[in-house]
Amino acid sequence: MFIAGNWKMNGTLDQARALARALAEQLPAGAPTTALFPPAPHLTAVLEEVADSPIFVGGQDCSPHPDGAHTGDVSAAMLVDLGARGVIVGHSERRTNHGETDAQVLAKVTAGMQAGIGVILCVGETLEQREAGQAEAVVRGQLAAGLPETLSGDAITIAYEPVWAIGTGKVATRDDMSTMHRMIRAWLREHRPALAETFILYGGSVKAANADDVFAADEVGGALVGGASLKSDDFLGIITAAMNA
Ligand code: PEP
Repeated sequence: MFIAGNWKMNGTLDQARALARALAEQLPAGAPTTALFPPAPHLTAVLEEVADSPIFVGGQDCSPHPDGAHTGDVSAAMLVDLGARGVIVGHSERRTNHGETDAQVLAKVTAGMQAGIGVILCVGETLEQREAGQAEAVVRGQLAAGLPETLSGDAITIAYEPVWAIGTGKVATRDDMSTMHRMIRAWLREHRPALAETFILYGGSVKAANADDVFAADEVGGALVGGASLKSDDFLGIITAAMNA
């Protein structure tokens, strides 16, 4: 299992330090792989706070470019320089708020791989697409467009995050989750065999109270957690549920 906390654009530097410290101190022995994705300006502080724990830290996005005139962007190599070991790419908030295309997502995945950090590629359909019966086709399309065709031993994790479940309190049913995750697993085996066994995370309003149910779905290998990763008790509750799954 792999549990990742996406803090998005939340918190002060002091709050980031306090949350990271609490998690580092309270992470149970035998916890699954746990990663924190704080806002970029808080990366160094969070890295310092978790330095003596097994928690790893990553960026919420990276530029597709190695360097140059890209105001406001952060390169994958800059993340590595800080000590980050992962990056989230293609989050629906990036796709929607910043108009990120599949081609840009692919370039960012490639940049992360080339920098040698683990990439979490987010995929997921909107409510409109689900209601139109297009959910699986949309996700297949995002996988095909976002994953390089040639891969070998690269650390890429998939996060299935139905857009309508992110930050809304709505969670996919266990059946829908299982169906989608089984489809993703089958697609990876057929089209990107190097990722055949990679973790497939579920994301979308996962909380300590529903985590048992999420982790009982087929092929769910962990969670990408937004809101509930901002409170140490909630996030630790999800980690505990993963340990018991
Ligand atoms: C996310 O943004 O990746 C996410 C899953 O958010 P939330 O848990 O708040 O729905």
